Amino acid sequence: ASRPLGADQISYFNEQWDKLEKNRRSLLQDLRRAIDNGDLQVHYQPQLHLERQRISGCEVLVRWHCPERGTVPPDEFIPLAEEHRLIAPLTKQVILKSCTELGEVDLLGSTLDRVSVNISAQEFTDRDFLPQMQALLGDLSSLRPYLQLEITERAALLDMKRSIHYIRSLREQGLRFSIDDFGTGYSGLSMLRDLPVDELKIDRSFIVDLNSQPRSAAIVSAVVGLADVFGLSVVAEGVETDGQLEALRRCRCEEVQGYLIAPPLDIQRFQAFLTGHSLQHPARA
Ligand code: C2E
Ligand code: MG
Ligand code: MG
Ligand code: MG
Repeated sequence: ASRPLGADQISYFNEQWDKLEKNRRSLLQDLRRAIDNGDLQVHYQPQLHLERQRISGCEVLVRWHCPERGTVPPDEFIPLAEEHRLIAPLTKQVILKSCTELGEVDLLGSTLDRVSVNISAQEFTDRDFLPQMQALLGDLSSLRPYLQLEITERAALLDMKRSIHYIRSLREQGLRFSIDDFGTGYSGLSMLRDLPVDELKIDRSFIVDLNSQPRSAAIVSAVVGLADVFGLSVVAEGVETDGQLEALRRCRCEEVQGYLIAPPLDIQRFQAFLTGHSLQHPARA
């Protein structure tokens, strides 16, 4: 049985709560300023096509280097941005910045077939998402064919009808769609049947124990098989070891992404990485 709280305990909790609230408010303030000032950075993580032995695409990951706080991880500020209607301006900045940076070094089309940007669930289910994205795409006509949006199963399932409408409309304008963290949601096969997407990203949780847990290996093989049947690309995320890479080759997984290939890199390092990689693996004519 729990005893009633004493007055000193209550005031202690109140103090802690106030502190948390204050921290959150100041984090929000700093985030708002970073977005307004265009201070968010983007990093690029390469995706390796196993059969072609070349980097075919990359995932864009937002980075916030706050002068006062140091680097704040996306898992901390994305939920805050979602909660306070800052996610649309954040995404806009991520898309414009990555397209500008990749355009400046002339990587799209020549070296990379595809650049993937994350779209959060809250954003994808917002009724403003489609018009906002269409307006943004108007300014990006030449890069549109390379842009891919990553959504999670959970986001897509919240309102299937709307999801299908959004995906259809944006694919008509040349965008591609990928299902991120595939296998972790409540996906059913009906989702694969109904959603007109282009790619599945197998969640890291199935890659982590690929070599020790036969069930994970079976799931990966099954997802690769499904992707094949539906004509989708398939990427394994979070590949960290040679053993995992070998297992993924055996499963006939098409593409891999993870620290084993490279961590997310800023544009200079990404460009240098791509140059080094193409020297190591010259494309066969
Ligand atoms: P995600 O989309 O599933 O991204 C993959 C995460 O795994 C990234 O973390 C990446 O740095 C990390 N990662 C890559 N390779 C490895 C590996 O080999 N091992 C391990 N342990 N981790 C690896 P990050 O950058 O911290 O992002 C976390 C999540 O935050 C992302 O998960 C995504 O949901 C979200 N996020 C990141 N950038 C954006 C963005 O621009 N917009 C939105 N809406 N969400 C974003
Ligand atoms: Mg992602
Ligand atoms: Mg992912
Ligand atoms: Mg994941």
